[in-house]
Amino acid sequence: MSVATTSSPLERLKAILGEIADLRHAEAILDWDSRVSMPPAGAQARAEASATLTRLAHEQFVSDEVGELLDELSSVEEEKDAALIRVTRREWDRSRRVPTELAGEMSHANGVAVAAWDEAKASSDFASFIPHLERQLELKHRYIECFPETETAYDVLLEDYEEEMTTDQVVDVFDRVKQELVPLIERHRQRPVDGTLLRGPFPVSGQREAGRRVLQAFGYEDATWRIDETPHPFASKPGVGDIRLTTHTDENDLTSLFSTMHEFGHGVYEFDIDDGFSRTPLGRGTSSAIHESQSRTWENLVGRSPGFWHWFYPQLQEIFPEQLAGVAEGSFVAAINAVQPGLIRGDADEVTYGLHIILRFELERELLAGTVAVRDLPEVWNTRMKEYLGVDVPDDAHGVLQDMHWSVGMFGYFPTYQLGNVISVQIWERVRADLGDLQEQFARGEFSSLREWLREQIYRHGSTYPPRELLRRVTGSDLDPEPYLEYLRAKFA
Ligand code: ZN
Repeated sequence: MSVATTSSPLERLKAILGEIADLRHAEAILDWDSRVSMPPAGAQARAEASATLTRLAHEQFVSDEVGELLDELSSVEEEKDAALIRVTRREWDRSRRVPTELAGEMSHANGVAVAAWDEAKASSDFASFIPHLERQLELKHRYIECFPETETAYDVLLEDYEEEMTTDQVVDVFDRVKQELVPLIERHRQRPVDGTLLRGPFPVSGQREAGRRVLQAFGYEDATWRIDETPHPFASKPGVGDIRLTTHTDENDLTSLFSTMHEFGHGVYEFDIDDGFSRTPLGRGTSSAIHESQSRTWENLVGRSPGFWHWFYPQLQEIFPEQLAGVAEGSFVAAINAVQPGLIRGDADEVTYGLHIILRFELERELLAGTVAVRDLPEVWNTRMKEYLGVDVPDDAHGVLQDMHWSVGMFGYFPTYQLGNVISVQIWERVRADLGDLQEQFARGEFSSLREWLREQIYRHGSTYPPRELLRRVTGSDLDPEPYLEYLRAKFA
């Protein structure tokens, strides 16, 4: 260890955490590269390299030295230092349960399985993916065994993404959401919308130009951000001043604009975290659901609102005159907000989206419990898609193989998407209470007062507050699906 021993315990801890953050910085670049620009045949070698970095970071983090420093610092009082100790202690306790060998095996399995999933999806060949999914489940069981005191296996996984959230709480929220969504979707099914308005082709260069203009109005700057094409969009922050968005542009529709705004929401949360938290565990968003609440805010609450389109629709018409000159603004806004049950989660509207998540939440618990076998997964998936959304799944590429999450061992992540939807509206109510109706500002292409409010209330704090506490501080209440359900009723009923 290269850290001087003459400095204070807090300085020593920060120096170690800084080195670990640097290893994770390198890991983030390897991950970004593997998803954006690496030739596919590099996957095996990349899995080795990533696993080594994961092992090194894990080893250094779970050391006795870090534990001793945390003990020495257990009574620090300054608010930010106390938050740093709390977050680091929680992560240290959890990571220390996991043998370094298992951490490396999981990282390696992710690299191999995601490449296998990519191929399996391209050829809609679920059978070739079965051994990889079985391997991921076996590793998850070994991981869960590291936390024997947690009663529900799924709680262990959920805790990794959403501190203090239990499976029972998610079930409660989702049951209420499901009760509301099923009849709402049924009503929309009886009066289908005219989807032909949004059918292209919309040339890729025009879509990129549209995305660039929107991002610039939101506050994207070339010096600190970049955006690239990838099959499965994501956002990444390797380090301060380096925000990387990705999008997927398809000539046949305009979904890339919405996925660009979605990833901007993730990016701006990370970008606006106080620089003083850099290279520490406080320097990232506090949880997956809070993160998702922000991507949903920019994608839906801003990006599908009438004010936003009053500003941007004339520009989009100018970019695509042939396709949109004859389409009135109102018809366009109705079309991008249409409720239409479909096969793909990533393309789902605000109403049907929830059922895509509930399906995955149910299935991953059943896979872990062993009540659904991996080989039977496509059949169960297809049956439930028919039951919940009334759609027939033509092949596994458009069914069980559509999402990458399970290939990289992300069990327990899906519910945070829908919790993010719920939380986004709770926060939005507070935004409106403080700033009034923002539609008039959006109609002028003005988003800075919203961004500044979110920065002040949420973004700048990084992980200082646990997610439930942050939610209470911002909204005055705990997780509550009612504002979200009311929003859906008002907009779609
Ligand atoms: Zn997201």
